Amino acid sequence: MGVLRKIIRVLHIIPLSITFRHLFIKPITVQYPEERLTLPSHSIGMHKLDLNKCIGCGTCARVCPNKTIEMVTAGVIETKLKSGKVVKKPKKHPNVYLGRCMFCGLCEENCPTKAIKLTRNYEMAGYTREELLKTYEDLAKTREEV
Ligand code: SF4
Ligand code: SF4
Repeated sequence: MGVLRKIIRVLHIIPLSITFRHLFIKPITVQYPEERLTLPSHSIGMHKLDLNKCIGCGTCARVCPNKTIEMVTAGVIETKLKSGKVVKKPKKHPNVYLGRCMFCGLCEENCPTKAIKLTRNYEMAGYTREELLKTYEDLAKTREEV
């Protein structure tokens, strides 16, 4: 019995020594949101849209495998023809429903003008599903990283 107690005491010392050692090691966790990590360059997060580059072609919406992108009307484009006639057509931009996005990057890859891209911004959480719908105006304001 005495030997068994000694063994148990020794076995307690081992985990305690590990705990003690960690008091002097720098923690690998960060105090989010006060502290934020810089993610690797290949990380992908929320979309960013350059409204000046977006020509409203809808390619991003067509290639999206999850039907995450919806093209919405954002105004009217007026074009004056040589004959003097003015032709009006709707100006469109993409809204993205992040709740369905799988961050495959196909929208970015296929955009002919490089108007849409996936950033390193991972702060996309919301309290409701509606908050996960990002309008083209929201996407224009996306920060490149957190
Ligand atoms: S983001 Fe790119 S692919 Fe999507 S509508 Fe605009 S120009 Fe077209
Ligand atoms: S990253 Fe993929 S799933 Fe998400 S919007 Fe773009 S194409 Fe659709």
